[in-house]
Amino acid sequence: MLSANLGFPRIGKNRELKRAVESYWAGAASAEQLQQVAAELRAEHWRLQQAAGIESIPSNDFSLYDQMLDTAVALGVIPPRFAQLDVSPLQRYFLMARGQAPGVSLPHEIPALEMTKWFDTNYHYLTPEFEVSQTFSADATKPIAELNEAQSLGIATRPVLVGPVTFLSLGKLRSETGDRLDLIASLLPAYIDLLRQISDAGALWVQLDEPVLSTDLCDKQRDALVQAYRQIAAELPQLKVMLTTYFGPLAENLQLAADLPTAGLHVDLVRGEADAALLSAAVSTDKVLSLGLVEGRNIWKTDIHAAISFVQPLLEKLGAQRIQIAPSCSLLHAPVDLDAETELDEELKSWLAFGKQKLAEVALIAAALRGDDTVQPALDANRQAIMNRHASDRVHSPQVQGRLAWLDNSMTRRRSSYTQRRQLQQASLGLPAFPTTTIGSFPQTGEIRQARAQRRKGEISQASYVATMQAQIREVIQFQEEVGLDLLVHGEPERNDMVEYFGETLEGFAITRNGWVQSYGSRCVKPPIIFGDVYRTTPITVDWIRFAQSCASKPVKGMLTGPVTILCWSFVRDDQPRSETCKQIALAIRDEVADLETSGVQVIQIDEPALREGLPLRRRDWNDYLVWAGDSFRLASSVVADKTQIHTHMCYCEFNDIIEAIAGLDADVISIETSRSDMELLGAFVNFRYPNEIGPGVFDIHSPQAPTSESMLRLLTKAAEVLSPAQIWVNPDCGLKTRKWDEVRPALANMVKAAEAARQSL
Ligand code: GLN
Ligand code: ZN
Repeated sequence: MLSANLGFPRIGKNRELKRAVESYWAGAASAEQLQQVAAELRAEHWRLQQAAGIESIPSNDFSLYDQMLDTAVALGVIPPRFAQLDVSPLQRYFLMARGQAPGVSLPHEIPALEMTKWFDTNYHYLTPEFEVSQTFSADATKPIAELNEAQSLGIATRPVLVGPVTFLSLGKLRSETGDRLDLIASLLPAYIDLLRQISDAGALWVQLDEPVLSTDLCDKQRDALVQAYRQIAAELPQLKVMLTTYFGPLAENLQLAADLPTAGLHVDLVRGEADAALLSAAVSTDKVLSLGLVEGRNIWKTDIHAAISFVQPLLEKLGAQRIQIAPSCSLLHAPVDLDAETELDEELKSWLAFGKQKLAEVALIAAALRGDDTVQPALDANRQAIMNRHASDRVHSPQVQGRLAWLDNSMTRRRSSYTQRRQLQQASLGLPAFPTTTIGSFPQTGEIRQARAQRRKGEISQASYVATMQAQIREVIQFQEEVGLDLLVHGEPERNDMVEYFGETLEGFAITRNGWVQSYGSRCVKPPIIFGDVYRTTPITVDWIRFAQSCASKPVKGMLTGPVTILCWSFVRDDQPRSETCKQIALAIRDEVADLETSGVQVIQIDEPALREGLPLRRRDWNDYLVWAGDSFRLASSVVADKTQIHTHMCYCEFNDIIEAIAGLDADVISIETSRSDMELLGAFVNFRYPNEIGPGVFDIHSPQAPTSESMLRLLTKAAEVLSPAQIWVNPDCGLKTRKWDEVRPALANMVKAAEAARQSL
């Protein structure tokens, strides 16, 4: 019985890769220097896995940017706009990733590949672009170099590749007609060539990741899977393939996966617990099974005894030689090393496992199953920690549970209908037609960041920190009044991150110092940990908003992050359903909403940009989720009087298939991103006859160019043709925190002009 790993975080325990890549981009480091850091990280990670007792260690799980981009390059899927350029392979790689690369000056902008979420994680991959007549060609440079690199350290590895069907499924065809899955026949020869080269270079096994197997498959995907793995087996009989699936149960795809002619099958038994009972009957007697028993996506210590007794029956049926013990998925989605957390208390730390600790757990399970009795002390320590966490009174709050038990329907409904509320709100707010506002954040200047950092390190007093932030808020308010916006914001200078900021104050949350996870490219996020029942002991935003209102002659919006988004962007406890945790957060936000209202705030925005990404992978699970997510939002927002206006905001998502749920939130106003799609995304709201108010974003906050008032008026005109003009708000696509003041000033001035023109003409 082997212990195996499926992938290790590549960013480095101190985000060394981020720094190296960014200094290469900035021209401060050479390509060689970047490659040097990358090689050091790979070596460190291979050795770390070996030291943890992992026997099957992956290679080619490393990436300078993204594994889907690596796969596209390895298969020659390089769109013409990049292929044409006379640049180095590394420059081309980053051009595809970001539209720019050091040492390359382009006569005109070329758009990077599109970025999309990797299944239901917070990792974003680059979308391969296919032509209808796409040709493929193998370039095995990277996987072979990494295989050899590990070999030279004396470590035999199992190269990882994105499987052919997942690769095609996640790509997009650059034409309206046709199906990307039809490309399987032309992809396969190149894919097999790639595998052959890797095999010739000495790999005995490869890991082919096909997480599409945990989604709803269409017939084409099923056929493509059969065709692909039959052909691979026929042409490369010597190469052993570990077909790898994760992020959910195989369920109805289990027999299909089991019947594919691969030497091994990896299954996620954390999320796909139910698969376990069916596995031994489904797989042929010579297949190796890799059992994902250690959650790869969360930070909780595995209950080793539970895992052992869970797999015991499988082990008895299949025999130890056929079993590998593994994490549920690649550890890409976990932070690197818990040992680096110096500020978490010891008790909480004893409940957690990050990437490095998860590997030790995998090795521990394998050792225990082999009957190795030297691991007894480690097993005892694990049992102790698990029991301690279950029993801890830091986890359970009778008050919170009591409050949840007493929820009733009236708490998730506004008092009156939107039509009635609208009249009261109009009377009290007195806003013009086409009212203008922003999404919340204003530029996070160096000064703001510095003050936050100084406060964290204790270099400045709380009083001086507050004074600096108040000065910022005053300026932001003054600017908004001058430029003529109608509904103002305080600008969010005090927030490092819209989720961590609330996690810092709410009970039941812990914040790590170094728990970074790659989000995309060099960007990392540091999700808070929700370890216990959530509640609020003190108002979080009220003083800031009150201060902002005191500087303003127009209404200022209260600004909160919604419960679903806080849930989606945190590490969530695994000892109760996510829906419970979400409702607890909702109650805490509800308290904040109530306090804002009491302190005189007339408009409160509750952002839910993560509502859509929380959707389960399988359609049959959508409804359940949308019901509790919607309830949570309304639980947070419905506490207010009719005349208090509730806003929400969502961005960068497809609205069509969740429009009913969005309407069900019953927010008085929703602002959405629409400018990049030229108002196309508004279609969902139009077709649904969305009844409440909408602010379709009129400018793309990602672009440094200030949009003209003409372009924004054109978008407003377009919106007014399909919506009632009385429904329409005027705002940017999203928050302005990543922009510079010099970009924001003209953009908002033009936006106000466009709204004024709309009032005249529409
Ligand atoms: N209020 C937040 C901001 O303006 C919203 C951010 C988001 O949608 N991701 O920054
Ligand atoms: Zn947004």
